Amino acid sequence: MDLLSVLIQKNVLDQEKAAALRSRAATESRPVETFIIEENILDEETLFQYKGEALNIPIRNVKGEDIPGSVLDLIPEESAKYYSMVPLKEEKGKLEIGMVYPEDVKAREALQFLARQGNFSYAIVLISPKTFDALMRRKRDAKQEVEQALEELQEDIAKEKKNVPSTAELSRLVEEAPITKMVAVVLRNAVEGKASDIHIEPTKKDLRVRFRFMGQLHASLVLPLKAHAAIVARVKILADMRIDETRIPQGGRFSTTIEGKAIDFRVSTLPTAMGEKVVIRVLDPETGLKDFEQLGLEGVALEKIKEAAKAPYGLLFATGPTGSGKTTTLYAVLRSLNKTNVNIVSLEDPVEYVIQGVNQSQVQPEIGYDFAQGLREILRQDPDIIMVGEVRDAETASLAIHAALTGHLVLSTLHTNNAIGIIPRLVDMGVDRYLLPATLSAGLAQRLVRRLCEECKEEVKPKKAIQGLLDREVASLPEYVRKEMEPQIARGTIFEPKGCDACGTTGYAGRIGVFEVLVMTEELAGIILEKPSEHEIQKEAERQNMLNMRQDGIKKVLEGITTIEEVLRATAENQ
Ligand SMILES: [Zn+2]
Repeated sequence: MDLLSVLIQKNVLDQEKAAALRSRAATESRPVETFIIEENILDEETLFQYKGEALNIPIRNVKGEDIPGSVLDLIPEESAKYYSMVPLKEEKGKLEIGMVYPEDVKAREALQFLARQGNFSYAIVLISPKTFDALMRRKRDAKQEVEQALEELQEDIAKEKKNVPSTAELSRLVEEAPITKMVAVVLRNAVEGKASDIHIEPTKKDLRVRFRFMGQLHASLVLPLKAHAAIVARVKILADMRIDETRIPQGGRFSTTIEGKAIDFRVSTLPTAMGEKVVIRVLDPETGLKDFEQLGLEGVALEKIKEAAKAPYGLLFATGPTGSGKTTTLYAVLRSLNKTNVNIVSLEDPVEYVIQGVNQSQVQPEIGYDFAQGLREILRQDPDIIMVGEVRDAETASLAIHAALTGHLVLSTLHTNNAIGIIPRLVDMGVDRYLLPATLSAGLAQRLVRRLCEECKEEVKPKKAIQGLLDREVASLPEYVRKEMEPQIARGTIFEPKGCDACGTTGYAGRIGVFEVLVMTEELAGIILEKPSEHEIQKEAERQNMLNMRQDGIKKVLEGITTIEEVLRATAENQ
């Protein structure tokens, strides 16, 4: 139903008046709402209540909400103004868009275009013109702050005569307000915009600051090249790095409070032909910690992990080489268990993300506080759930088993090639295998593959050789997966990277895990007690319908999430 019909129904207008308004709106090509407000037929608030009813779109008031400038900026200013629409909230790549005229087809089309370009999905809510104006004012204020800092910085730099300041000059320079303020503004913008990384890079002409946001790099600020040395020095001082050393890469970290949240930043510098490039990883606990879907853990594997995590006690191992994302997965499990009625204690090396409500402790082997010692201490802290960074020796392994046997849920990591290898590895470490069926509840292995850029990925008919590979891998999938994937298999196409501005011409944006999950069953218990060889465990895994990492990857190839090359590369040593 349209707005005028609702107003007639509510006895606000009669047929005649409605018709007059309708024709006036058409001739003056202005929305009918403006006349209703101008003629004081209804106040804006009531009118938009009725409009919400007419369109069946919820109306949203943003009073008292703090919407960061970086969220407001997710739709370019011109489009925002022209179509009267503005982002209100960003959550996991989904935007809530406030629109004054959601019935406007052109506005909807523009929004669809922006969503494709910016790789986001969205939900529309109705906002009143007043709300829209207030938000546009807020957007301008946020922008002004950056501009002001930039202006001060430029004035300050104009005073400096030399291009390359001495170390003493640098130290003085970074103490001065404009540089300090500029760096603070950059950090805050990154956190508010939920950027994962900040790149500060000198080019021939200027100093570029780019943010990685939703997996992609976005140009954010262009600063005068003269600010380079001082900005790098400021970051280095924060991270306790040497400012007089510019020829070798350095690493460091610092933490600061932004908007009441403690945020860690990990800094690395790299000498390039143009000078030092700085990359700052933003370890914001809210964005760095991913949920299961974002990790790529899904289907049967996810259900098995959730099941294992629900058990009041037991051992849950994640395995894989360094950088395979296993710790991130354990964090996700930990967060899914994080309730006020449980005591969670972790032992980590190092503590990467601070999780509210979890007692995180960092091991310090140099003073004898290692995983084994820490685990012994933790057990006196009345924990329900324990996370141990890694089990790498017999003592820690036996303590972890003991903790599980005495009613604790223990999460940890191991170094093995795959999930099948977890049991032999534990036995190798001297764990009494008769204890394993009662304690080990699940083992997960994973690798990371690059995710295709959604903007530019290309659907292709695979070449003959690739088709052959794909056919072979598809044939190895369990029956139920082949059934599930029937439409994708029948389609006969896969996706290839192309490269666009959004993904920095790489064709890829971010990474996703490929997983395999083995769980304890009566059958597996029997194998462990009799003869825990990899061959026997493998057979049981197949009986459990376990997808191995490669098979999970092939599923993601069919789904167009990644490429077959990525999957074959990441899982090469497991086949
Ligand atoms: Zn792309």
